[in-house]
Amino acid sequence: MDLTTRVRNLLRTNDTLPTTSREREAAVNQLRRSEAYLAEAQRLTKTGSWAFTPGKEGWNYWSDELFRILEVDPRQGPLLLELMGQRVHPEDRQQVVDRYLKALNDKEDYVLDHRMLYPDGRLKYFHTIGHPIFNDAGEIAEFVGTSVDVTEQKRIEEALRRSEAYLAEGQRLTHTGSWSLNAATRQIFHSSAEHTGMFGFDPEKGLPSFEDFLQRIHPEDQEYVLETLQTLMRSGEDLDLRYRIAAPDCPVRYMHTIGHPVLKESSAPGEYVGITIDTTERRRLDQEREQAENRLRRSEAYLAEAQRLSHTGSWALDPATGKIIYYSEEMFRIMGLEPTLDPPDSEAISQRIHPEDIPPIIEGIERTLAASKKCWIVMDQTTGSQGLEALLKELQAELEFRVVSPDGTLKYVRSYGHPIVDKTGHLTEFVGTIVDVTEQKKAEFERERLRQWEADLAHMNRISMLGELAASISHELKQPIAAGIISASTTLNWLARDEPNVEEARETATATLKAGKRAAEIIDHVRALYTKAPPKRELLDGNEIIREIVALLWVEANRYKVSMHTDFAAEVPMIMSDRVQLQQVLMNLMLNAIEAMKETGGSLSVKSRLNQEGLFQISVSDTGPGLPAAKEKQIFEPFFTTKPQGSGMGLAICRSIVESHGGCLWAAPNGDRGACFNFTLPVANHYET
Ligand code: ADP
Repeated sequence: MDLTTRVRNLLRTNDTLPTTSREREAAVNQLRRSEAYLAEAQRLTKTGSWAFTPGKEGWNYWSDELFRILEVDPRQGPLLLELMGQRVHPEDRQQVVDRYLKALNDKEDYVLDHRMLYPDGRLKYFHTIGHPIFNDAGEIAEFVGTSVDVTEQKRIEEALRRSEAYLAEGQRLTHTGSWSLNAATRQIFHSSAEHTGMFGFDPEKGLPSFEDFLQRIHPEDQEYVLETLQTLMRSGEDLDLRYRIAAPDCPVRYMHTIGHPVLKESSAPGEYVGITIDTTERRRLDQEREQAENRLRRSEAYLAEAQRLSHTGSWALDPATGKIIYYSEEMFRIMGLEPTLDPPDSEAISQRIHPEDIPPIIEGIERTLAASKKCWIVMDQTTGSQGLEALLKELQAELEFRVVSPDGTLKYVRSYGHPIVDKTGHLTEFVGTIVDVTEQKKAEFERERLRQWEADLAHMNRISMLGELAASISHELKQPIAAGIISASTTLNWLARDEPNVEEARETATATLKAGKRAAEIIDHVRALYTKAPPKRELLDGNEIIREIVALLWVEANRYKVSMHTDFAAEVPMIMSDRVQLQQVLMNLMLNAIEAMKETGGSLSVKSRLNQEGLFQISVSDTGPGLPAAKEKQIFEPFFTTKPQGSGMGLAICRSIVESHGGCLWAAPNGDRGACFNFTLPVANHYET
């Protein structure tokens, strides 16, 4: 601008100077050159210059570049003052006028930024400076000035501003601040707003000093940070530091600083540039994750331990491929397989399964998988989720099979599986457990063997008792047979008369039939005791059974001068029991009682009643020598006997029978003389509840 004035003054001077034509020519050439340079400089910097006289119509001067940047044809003249005004953006016009009027009034320079709006709608940014030229009277003779098209600059500035904003936002989001410093001279060249804020300073209040930053580092870490910074920066090495900062009123925060030397010529000597990351949050998350992982690991270990202790393995199967996708550690152990990271394939598994058990397993899996695939159809089309639940229940597979270990030992396992279905009813997985039930199975076999052995023993006991009762039974049988014979011969007599008395004959024949039936009944009862039939519970009248046994043992008792008495409670309820077993218990106890009184004779009484606990109780008491002294408990043990020919099994069998019915059997002295054996049986309604 000053240059423009000078050139114009020179031009004016040029006209008035009395000089030789050669000198003049040289001066003119000089001027032209300088004007050309000026025009070139204006073009390069997009700077237009102008001049006008306040209050005068039109412009005194527009440089070529001003025409160009305002996009006005130079031939368009005369240069109207309004032309420039028309280009000024309407929103900025008032500001331009105000600034000019103020400068005119205050007789001073004016500087302003404004926008230009072109007829086709384009915008340009201008930077305008106006300067007053005064006449001798000190009045403003002219305003000269420049208008620079700074659109490009503005765009760059805007882009820079935006990218700076993005960078600041990025730093904020990642808790990362940037910095640049020289540790030797303790100079800070740059500290981003995020970086300054991280150390607890207000970024608005300017750049804190090196010492300020150092003060904010946790006292325990300050020395280490300073020393490391200086040592590494002296040797030009990259920085990698972790430390804590303790800003006032803030909890301790954890920082990670990385930096490297700036090797550009433009940078200050010893300058380092880098970033500092606030890792507090990440550290917390890492710690939380680590804790969660530890918890998971622990619970996995407990689970593995629980699986080991309970001999339970777990597995998962992909229904799409039918392949095993998970196998717990215990699964490998149960299946006798070497533990591997990946689950074993079906080949390896089937080698461990007893060949006879493979077909049902395959069939079970196939059936379940086929049905599982229908889950979503059930869900979609038929009965909705209720139907699905029913189907899922149906799909819960339970299989039992044998595992053959490499050493040939057999294991029994029970596998439970059920499908996992997503919200849409699609089958995603099939999961389950396998329990090693070998011990359980062994115990079951053992129990079965014992049960069988007990049954055999009980049977033997019955047969041996019947042996002892042979006389009694034959006597028992003799009675109906004798009665039958008498009745039959009486019938014959009635019929043999001249006038046969058919009526009497029918009556005696009926009596014969009755006696025959009674004999058949006795034989049936005895046969039942001989027969080896499985136990059968039925509703029985307890008193009725007592009566039967008393009748059967009547002769036996008489033989040894033992009188028998019964004492039945009225209206005792029915009991649920096995007839033969109950007869066996009664017979055992009563035979023992008779045997105890063999030498002396005595009294045997059988009582029934409903006891205080609501149980049916039968008591068999005698007036014999009583229980063997100090052996009251032992008498129930198998093989305990005080008799030369005794087996010692009677009471043991009785107790096991009574207990299998849910009752108890015990012995007590019968007052001052003899022994009393009692046993209880639950009444029928006890079973119903
Ligand atoms: P066994 O009759 O073959 O000895 P039991 O198991 O029936 O086997 O009886 C075991 C023992 O209990 C008898 O040897 C006897 O000592 C005792 N005992 C059983 N019943 C009586 C009783 N009524 N009075 C006295 N002792 C009895």
